[in-house]
Amino acid sequence: MKELFTIHYAEVGLKGKNRAFFERRLAQNIKQSLRGTGYALVKRLHDRIQVQLEPHADIADIKKRLSRVMGIAHFELVCRTEKNMAAIKETALRHTEGKTFQTLKVETKRSDKTFPLLSPQISAEVGAYLIQHTGARADMHTPELLCRIEVSQNAAYIYTEKLPGIGGLPVGVSGKVLVMLSGGIDSPVAAWRLIKRGAKAVFIHFYSYPYTDKASLEKVMELSHILAESNYRSALYLVPFADVQQAIVAGTPAPFRVLLYRRLMTRIAERVAALVDAEAIVTGESLAQVASQTLTNLRAIEAIADIPILRPLIGDDKAEIIAQAEQIGTFAVSTLPHQDCCSLFVPKHPATRATAADLERAEAGLDIEALVKSAMEGIEKRVVNFPYE
Ligand code: ATP
Ligand code: MG
Repeated sequence: MKELFTIHYAEVGLKGKNRAFFERRLAQNIKQSLRGTGYALVKRLHDRIQVQLEPHADIADIKKRLSRVMGIAHFELVCRTEKNMAAIKETALRHTEGKTFQTLKVETKRSDKTFPLLSPQISAEVGAYLIQHTGARADMHTPELLCRIEVSQNAAYIYTEKLPGIGGLPVGVSGKVLVMLSGGIDSPVAAWRLIKRGAKAVFIHFYSYPYTDKASLEKVMELSHILAESNYRSALYLVPFADVQQAIVAGTPAPFRVLLYRRLMTRIAERVAALVDAEAIVTGESLAQVASQTLTNLRAIEAIADIPILRPLIGDDKAEIIAQAEQIGTFAVSTLPHQDCCSLFVPKHPATRATAADLERAEAGLDIEALVKSAMEGIEKRVVNFPYE
């Protein structure tokens, strides 16, 4: 008996000509994510991917990692055995060891049409054998244990547990995005949504040290660490923003400050996006969540952008975002205290309905190009790998 994992993909299979490209990327991502767990080989078969194991492979760890690889619909740990009834029965029985169940059912698929028994005959014979040796009863409708057998050209495969994958698309098949990561709850969730759709995320963070402490930097590093679990090698660009903010505070009307910070951030993000070949900027903005996120204000911010700004959380309630942050494991880090650079020097009543023309007028006295350039010069880059080094 030899154990291995069989991996099934959903959407990936539907992509026509691109299919080989998607499958190759998924196989690469699986290899990347299983490094160090004791897998022997990741093999592409015609409609699935097989992960063969070394004898010492850490099965529980592999299950956990596969459950987080974007692009997997479901997967199972299967036992491979010889194509004869004695071996199939024996393997099925060994595979059920350690499981508790009162009722069972066996289902068979037979792609090798030369096998001497038909599928129902195989199911009946293996079922009877399992019943005899485990004391369980047969239940054709709601069995506690469903034992599946596949008789294919080269071998027979047996499994009892279908494990859910996360869905989505393999990271890397949808191009690259630059995610504005703030240290709050929303932006890591926004990043995760795009990663799940196959986009490789690069991160950018603006910090106001020395006006604020360095907590936000530690938080975004930790967040990019967590997101690297699905994004793999992840680059984080840290942008010093204090001088820009100081210029805005000194030279523009107070009610527009947050919006002007945002326009400057967006301009800088666009430069970085061009450097790293990202085709869109992603933010954690959600409609009307705060004053800067009214439709009017979002429009006035985005007026200076040349590349698309994606806002995957735009229609989500805060409670929904929080639930997802908990699920992906970023919530605890996001809720650690930090001083948000955008709440620095901001009046009690910021503008909720600024137009692009208002903001252009407000920032007319700033040397935007010089501010962008000097922030760009101060950028530091960090890289996180997964599996962690
Ligand atoms: P979050 O929880 O993601 O911080 P938020 O509800 O606090 O979002 P804002 O502070 O208005 O909302 O920020 C809106 C979006 O702008 C963030 O989701 C993020 O994408 C981006 N952003 C804000 N501040 C920063 C920052 N310091 N660095 C990078 N991006 C930022
Ligand atoms: Mg924030």
